[in-house]
Amino acid sequence: MNRPLDRGERASRPTPYPLEGVVSWNMNTTCNYRCSYCTQRFVDDRRQRAKDVDAFVAGLVGLPGDWEVKLSGGEPFRHPGFLDAVAAMVAGGLRVSVVTNFSDSLERLLRFAELTASRPGVLSASLHLEYADVGEFLTKAVAVQAAHAGSFNVTCVATRDVLPRLGELQRRFGEEGVRLKVQPEKQDRDVIEYTGDERTQLVALGGHNATGRVAPSFAGLPCWAGARSFILDHEGHAWRCYPARRQRTEYLGNLLDGTLLLHESARLCQYAYCNCTVPQERGMMNVSLGRDAQAPSAP
Ligand code: SF4
Ligand code: SF4
Repeated sequence: MNRPLDRGERASRPTPYPLEGVVSWNMNTTCNYRCSYCTQRFVDDRRQRAKDVDAFVAGLVGLPGDWEVKLSGGEPFRHPGFLDAVAAMVAGGLRVSVVTNFSDSLERLLRFAELTASRPGVLSASLHLEYADVGEFLTKAVAVQAAHAGSFNVTCVATRDVLPRLGELQRRFGEEGVRLKVQPEKQDRDVIEYTGDERTQLVALGGHNATGRVAPSFAGLPCWAGARSFILDHEGHAWRCYPARRQRTEYLGNLLDGTLLLHESARLCQYAYCNCTVPQERGMMNVSLGRDAQAPSAP
C-alpha cells in the first residue's frame, strides 16, 4: 500500500499537468477610468494597444495543446477590435475569458457572453467604487450573469476607505446571487501594509480572491506558470507570470516574432508574493502548501 506523502515530498512535486493552459493577454493599456490604486497608472502612455490583432489571434490559436485566453488591459472592451478578436479566437477553438471594469454597454457585455457561449470562460467584473454606481453595477451584473454560460464574479479592491463597506456589499450582492471577491490594495505593485485588524477583516471577507490569504506566497514550490500559463502584453512580449514581468525576469520571448519558448515542465517559484489569480485557481501549484506573506510570524 502506498504511504501518504509527507509535506517535504508534496512540496517538491508539481501538481498534475494542467490540460488547459491559460494566456493572460493584456491587450491594451487604454482605460476610461483612472483608479487611485491602478497598477498601471505610472505607465507612460495609457493609449497603447495590440495593433495587429489577426497576428495575435493566429499566434494564440497556434499554441500547442488546449488554451484559454483571459483578456485584460487596461480595459479590454476599450480596444477597438475587442469583440472581433473574441469572435476570431472562439472560431479558432480557444476558450475566452475577460476581466473588465464593466463600464461598457449592457448590449456589448451581452454580446461577449453570446460570442463565447460555445466554450465559455470566466467573466470577471471589477467594481471600482471611485467611478461605478453600485446599484447600476449590480443590476447589470445580474443581467450579464444570467446570460453568460461560464462563471461570473465581481471583484472589488479593498482600499482602507472601502474595507469597512465590503461586508455589506458582499451581503447585498450575495442576496442577488452574485459572488463578490475582494482584492487587497497594491501600491508599487505590492500589497499595502494592512494593520492586524485590517488583515483580520480581509481574511473574514475571503482574502485575496477568496484564497483565504492576504498576500499569497508559493516561493520555492513547483509552479506550471511559464509552461501552462503566461502573461502576454500588447506588443507580444511574454513573461512567466505577473511578478516575473514586474521584475523583468523569466522572459519567454515574443508571440509575434516566433521567439516565444514555453517551459516544458513546472519550475520552482522564485517570488515572495504571488498575485496571479489564474495559476492559483487552476491548480498550477500546490495552493495548500503556500503561506501568507503578510501573516504575523509564528512566535
Ligand atoms: S479600471 Fe482597471 S485598468 Fe482602469 S484605471 Fe481602474 S484599475 Fe486601472
Ligand atoms: S509568483 Fe505565482 S504564478 Fe508566478 S511562479 Fe510563483 S507561484 Fe507561479
